[in-house]
Amino acid sequence: MAAPDLPLIMFGSKSLLIIFQKTEGHCHFCGDPLRLHKYGCKDINDLGGAWEADHVIQRGKGGKKEAENCLPACVRCNRLRWHRKGNNLRELLLLGLIAKDEIKKSSAVGNTLKAMRAKRLMNNKKRRRK
Ligand SMILES: [Zn+2]
Repeated sequence: MAAPDLPLIMFGSKSLLIIFQKTEGHCHFCGDPLRLHKYGCKDINDLGGAWEADHVIQRGKGGKKEAENCLPACVRCNRLRWHRKGNNLRELLLLGLIAKDEIKKSSAVGNTLKAMRAKRLMNNKKRRRK
């Protein structure tokens, strides 16, 4: 049911408001609050609250494009997930936890990972500016 103070925004066959309300306006990955009007925002300097419709069953794997197959995801989480699912996503999270521990300990591996992370973020920023 649509909240009376929010406009019903249609994007193709998807109702963004229906998707947005499935999680009461929060990213289904990280739980951060989203802003309805920031759907599709790609400004890397203004990603707070920016969101996309994440296809639970990916389109390339037969998932429908309609709202019933979509959940709201913040742009940052959705880009990290990309096409990954199931075991690949869990492996990414596990490796992330191991990496975070190493960085916290400032081990040699941790310091290398920290430098690699900074380099990757810088390269991503450069790539998106083009
Ligand atoms: Zn998120």
